[in-house]
Amino acid sequence: MSEQTTRVPLIAGNWKMNLDHLQAIALVQKLAWALKDAGHNYGEAEVAVFPPFTDLRSVQTLLDADRLSITLGAQDVSPHEKGAFTGDVSAEMLAKLNVAYVIVGHSERRQGHGESDETVGRKARAVHANGMVPMICVGETAGDLEEHGAAAIPVAQLGAALEQLPEGADFIVAYEPVWAIGSGRAATAEQAQQVAKALRDAVCELRGDERAASTRILYGGSVSSQNVAGFLRQPDVDGALVGGASLQADEFSRIAQFRKHVVAG
Ligand code: PEP
Repeated sequence: MSEQTTRVPLIAGNWKMNLDHLQAIALVQKLAWALKDAGHNYGEAEVAVFPPFTDLRSVQTLLDADRLSITLGAQDVSPHEKGAFTGDVSAEMLAKLNVAYVIVGHSERRQGHGESDETVGRKARAVHANGMVPMICVGETAGDLEEHGAAAIPVAQLGAALEQLPEGADFIVAYEPVWAIGSGRAATAEQAQQVAKALRDAVCELRGDERAASTRILYGGSVSSQNVAGFLRQPDVDGALVGGASLQADEFSRIAQFRKHVVAG
């Protein structure tokens, strides 16, 4: 399944719980300028930002007003449609803000908020039902890595999420080894490729050849402009989910310019 691909790489910035709506606007403006200065071709690499909920409306307004080609994403969603779920945000609400992608199953939600595979799958289903694309995060802890190797847990997590997602639904996978997130200790490009390939094989088995060929599989975990090219050189890695480094416009723009490093490197 690792043949030449037409998948457009995606460089996605997960801001986590950082930046208020004014700071968000400033960062998106700076990012758009940095990308413009670098002559970024959005057809060659899509760029998306995932601000906190309170920033979404402001960022959406800016993207619309300035006709920026940056895609808007959200970091989480309720699995419920509507009703008495204090503090939750529904998929319908996100869709109204022109959100295109929604992260589900980030390890900080699985671990910090006790989200099960089933909940992650239900969230993915709610995202799809509202015309958006879920970005399903999977990844092994350091303990899992020692006990099961790198691919077993991510593949099982993906399979469980897909059980809840209708056949034919589009989705993105983000492989994020938990031990690599925010640690400054990224996986090697070869490790990322090995798991991305296992995930693509699982998609092939569960959803068929065509879906496997079109599904974007990202790597996430301490990605920077220094290491991004190595990941993007891998045949089954179609982009990066970037945390810390997405909060700096110049660095995130350099990450989005990975093609220059790939060619140069
Ligand atoms: C993340 O949280 O999705 C992430 C990859 O974080 P970082 O890039 O900071 O490791």
